[in-house]
Amino acid sequence: MRITEALLTNKNARPGKSIVPKGVVIHWTANPKAGADAMANRHYFNKPTTVASAHYIVDDKQIVRCLPETEMGYHVGAKSYKQDALARLSSYPNNCTIGIEMCVNADGRFSIMYQQTVELVVHILKRYGWDVNKLWRHYDITGKICPAFFVADQEAKMYRGLSAEEAWKRFKEDVHNLLTSHPQYPEVHVDKCDGQLSLGAQGYLKQGISYLPVRAVAEKAGCSVEWDPHTKVVRVNGQTVTAENVSGISYTPARELAEALGMQATWDAVRKAVILEAKQK
Ligand SMILES: [Zn+2]
Repeated sequence: MRITEALLTNKNARPGKSIVPKGVVIHWTANPKAGADAMANRHYFNKPTTVASAHYIVDDKQIVRCLPETEMGYHVGAKSYKQDALARLSSYPNNCTIGIEMCVNADGRFSIMYQQTVELVVHILKRYGWDVNKLWRHYDITGKICPAFFVADQEAKMYRGLSAEEAWKRFKEDVHNLLTSHPQYPEVHVDKCDGQLSLGAQGYLKQGISYLPVRAVAEKAGCSVEWDPHTKVVRVNGQTVTAENVSGISYTPARELAEALGMQATWDAVRKAVILEAKQK
């Protein structure tokens, strides 16, 4: 899963108001034209005349982050709201939800976009400690036919080969299954200036020190790794690092690896993850 951060600068779509999220709202772009991918939608949101936005837009190539999750977007505003949304969210659900747009551009592969959305949702739910009951369709809040492939049978049949009800149920099951199947090891997240990368790779803890798989992390961060089979020395960006070999994979203490990558490492106890971030300039 790759997230590209391209925050909006259009103040009409990004008012800069702080929010405390209580749920995730799923949308579709409703634009099947070729080229209407995540970045194209982001550019549309960023036009000064656009008064609409979402936190994430997903296509089959990438996930674009348009807004920090702690800032309000304009994705679910309406004249009136359903009772359940008023009761469980607020009288203005934009002020407490994270919006995700799913792309249906004809030159994109729907199934890959779908899987990327499942992974993004899992990534969010895990961080907040939520389950699938925190997921909403735009429809559940305002009654709008969005996303149509989870609301209207015709589109559900076309995109998912299922009834709308079944397609939405299946989406929540796919999220739930990935959410609960994940191994309980420390996860590796790599934050760079241009976005966040989440690895499938797992590290381990030994005597309070987090060890991370050198190659998986360094290559995701765009850095080179060399291993000398004779001396068993591992170098990251030309710098020698301590390495432990476990089943043929080299692991290095997180802080040392971060140093070699020019990043800083912190332990996030809530996520049970090592966060590698670009150093503050
Ligand atoms: Zn919508």
